[in-house]
Amino acid sequence: MANRPFVAEWPSEVIPASTGCGEILRRNQVMTTAAKLLWVAFALCWGVIRFRYAHRAKRNRQIEEQDRTYESVLLTLSFIGYLAVPVLYLGTSWLSFADYSLQPVLFGAGIVASAASLWLFWRSHADLGRNFSIKLVIREQHALVTTGVYRVIRHPMYASALLWSFGQALLLPNWATALAGLFGFCILYCGRVRREETLMLKTFGPSYEEYMMRTKRLVPHIY
Ligand code: SAH
Repeated sequence: MANRPFVAEWPSEVIPASTGCGEILRRNQVMTTAAKLLWVAFALCWGVIRFRYAHRAKRNRQIEEQDRTYESVLLTLSFIGYLAVPVLYLGTSWLSFADYSLQPVLFGAGIVASAASLWLFWRSHADLGRNFSIKLVIREQHALVTTGVYRVIRHPMYASALLWSFGQALLLPNWATALAGLFGFCILYCGRVRREETLMLKTFGPSYEEYMMRTKRLVPHIY
């Protein structure tokens, strides 16, 4: 009894006899790799949606563009948080100091957040149609869209960016990458939303005012 090994003190319900530390580590590695691959797959879908709708919207000519340089800086900073830092995390070990261990519940929540983000991203592009632009722009035949996902919230595309930040934070287990995604969203949202609403009010007047009265910005009925 005096020479009983320490591991034998653990009750069998805590660690099943068949599950050694090596096995737990191996499962965690498989889950982390799956999470990274899923993030890449989601990001590729994101790129395809954006490219397709941006290309289509080009047929509706721009007639007014707001603060070009400011917009470029905004989008570049947001791009760093959403793409450059995750790519750095995936492709190098520079950010490994901020790694943490992925848990199954975070993995599941990350898939749900990313899939929901992608759906909303696609629906908002489809509903906005030829009125869509990456920068703050008014087009020749610009129509105010208040249907589809726009019936419920005014900024579904930014709501999808927020969900994407959550998905990024949950699927890529690294604090720096998680903070970079949230930074990308904050930059985009804080730097854009008021200016965009001011431009919409200037362009569509009372119609947009009335639209603002009956919708929230990001979360239906709440915010
Ligand atoms: N903020 C919206 C749209 C982002 S795309 C969202 O989050 O879903 C940005 C462009 O969409 C801007 O150039 C603006 O001209 C246009 N836009 C924003 N809301 C619109 C609306 N309800 N109807 C038509 N165009 C809109």
